Amino acid sequence: MKFATKAIHAGVEPDPSTGAIMTPIFQTSTFAQPAVGQNKGFEYARSSNPTRQALEKSFAALENAKHGFAFSSGMAATDTIMKLLKPNDEVICGQDIYGGSYRLFVKVYEEIGIKFHFIDMQNEEIVKNTINSNSKMIWIETPSNPLLQIVDIEKIIKIAKENNLISVVDNTFATPYLQNPITMGADIAMHSATKYLGGHSDVVMGALMLNNDELAEKIYFIQKSCGAVPSPFDCFLMLRGIKTLPLRVDASCKNAIKIADFLVSHEKVENVYYAGLTTHKGHNIAQKQMRQFGGMISFDLKQDTQANAYKFLENINVFALAESLGGVESLACYPAMMTHASIPIEKRHEIGITDSLVRLSIGCEDVDDLIEDLEQALMKITFQKI
Ligand SMILES: *Cc1c(COP(=O)(O)O)cnc(C)c1O
Repeated sequence: MKFATKAIHAGVEPDPSTGAIMTPIFQTSTFAQPAVGQNKGFEYARSSNPTRQALEKSFAALENAKHGFAFSSGMAATDTIMKLLKPNDEVICGQDIYGGSYRLFVKVYEEIGIKFHFIDMQNEEIVKNTINSNSKMIWIETPSNPLLQIVDIEKIIKIAKENNLISVVDNTFATPYLQNPITMGADIAMHSATKYLGGHSDVVMGALMLNNDELAEKIYFIQKSCGAVPSPFDCFLMLRGIKTLPLRVDASCKNAIKIADFLVSHEKVENVYYAGLTTHKGHNIAQKQMRQFGGMISFDLKQDTQANAYKFLENINVFALAESLGGVESLACYPAMMTHASIPIEKRHEIGITDSLVRLSIGCEDVDDLIEDLEQALMKITFQKI
């Protein structure tokens, strides 16, 4: 099946007892068993639930993977992956990753003896030089957050395979519609389904997709044992959101290109980070591994102060000032104090998260209204004479 058909149909069958075309919300914690040791495929809802099962099949299909798993959040999905490791194991990951992933790695997993190397994953030599006999995993996030850097997935996966490392791709920003890490050879694709997969800013959820049976068995064991599973109602909302994923992502990408061009030509804007711009460092790699360039844009201001960014954010009207991304509504956020507040200031500056950096999640509104909103908010900033 082609992508749009899978988004609508994969995993979903009319309910056998009633013919209901939508998968019912099986709001039950347990399932009656006719005799000890006999059941209809379901025993207890932490282990499995029919609404979640339909969703997990859909997740798998979207990434062309054999196995799909749903979790109560993206972080719970990431936490599950980290539980595959043991003390003294080492992980190589980008320095420009989701702030919550950084916090989980440093504040939880480094405490129990797992080591993380935060490096520039755009540079293969640095990746190779970081590998040692304790290395177990490579964690790729591309496009990255908030600077929209592009990592060459195939090149990094090749290095991972040569060194027997588990390769994981956080594919949240790209979505399975634009980029398929499993098809490129990654062991695990991870998603914060909270974002584009759900698409309506009404569910928090995580997803893992993979082909390897042995790894899938371990992940199922952790999912069932640790219990970070989503509710049947949230699974229903997710199934519903996924049906329009290609329509929503197409609309966001179309808007984002126009908005990136607008920002590039704006007198108050310094840098625009969007892989669709030919001036972007990762443009050619993005063109190779993504079908479109996504709906996320970051930019900073010619006069790089927090006050100027705040002025802009106080004056936006159609864009809402909020964390998160990937919904039909456009959002703006200030990474330094919001999504990336857990990264120390020196580190933030070092990697390019400047004091005026703003991140936009471009939604599906009429692009003229979005541009008009950005323009009027930018005009409210008055640069100070230095
Ligand atoms: C939001 C996000 C996460 C965390 O997912 P939650 O659903 O918020 O727990 C992980 N990675 C990326 C890239 C994200 O944007």
